[in-house]
Amino acid sequence: MSGNDKFEGFIPDMMKEMTKILGIEFSINVVKDARYGLCNNGNCTGMIGEILRGEAELAIADLTVAPKRVLTVDFTQPFMTGGVTVLVNNPDPNLNTLEDLLEHGYSFLCVGGGSTENFLKSSRVSIHEKIANSLETITNFNEGFERVLKSGEKIAVLAELSTAKYHASEHCSLKIIGEPLNSVGYGIAMAKGIAVRTNEGVFEVRTLLDHAILQMRYDSTLELLQSKWWPKKC
Ligand code: GLU
Repeated sequence: MSGNDKFEGFIPDMMKEMTKILGIEFSINVVKDARYGLCNNGNCTGMIGEILRGEAELAIADLTVAPKRVLTVDFTQPFMTGGVTVLVNNPDPNLNTLEDLLEHGYSFLCVGGGSTENFLKSSRVSIHEKIANSLETITNFNEGFERVLKSGEKIAVLAELSTAKYHASEHCSLKIIGEPLNSVGYGIAMAKGIAVRTNEGVFEVRTLLDHAILQMRYDSTLELLQSKWWPKKC
């Protein structure tokens, strides 16, 4: 396969729907350093960095509209919402809360270089600080879930709800423990203030993409895609 056909999932499907609404064609590339992106003294990694340096026009992914990021790039309205959750393999029925996991000596994994890592390391909520103290970063979710599924270690994976649900439906022994730790939304990121001329006039790209996202929310396209890619299997 070539071009965009090499990719499948919720995001490529959503992009096809956006093409129908906006008449814009997309060409999908994978972020070079495989990171979502954090900024430090103006240097940004991942998708955020590629947008900032003009290496990509849009970042469309499970990319969190995080507080610091909105100072660097523009985001659309969220096309999906959730929060950071905790997953454990075959948990003991007595493990119902994060406090229980900490008391039983669990350590935690999360993807490095993204908003979950940043959230935990900067939170001043005491339970989050405790989690941050035994936090190890992984390069991607597959690595984390493989480890949790295969090893007998007491480890939990921190992942946002959509990711958590996806993996929990692939492996029914994975269970979400407790309530989400925060509340996040995914938006499409682009360089600040970029605009295009269309037949209808000049628009901020963000406005056009918001239009498409609102349309897909309004007519249930996003809901249908969610049930396609997150079927209830367990
Ligand atoms: N959605 C996160 C981000 O935009 C990545 C996944 C995570 O950090 O859990 O950085």
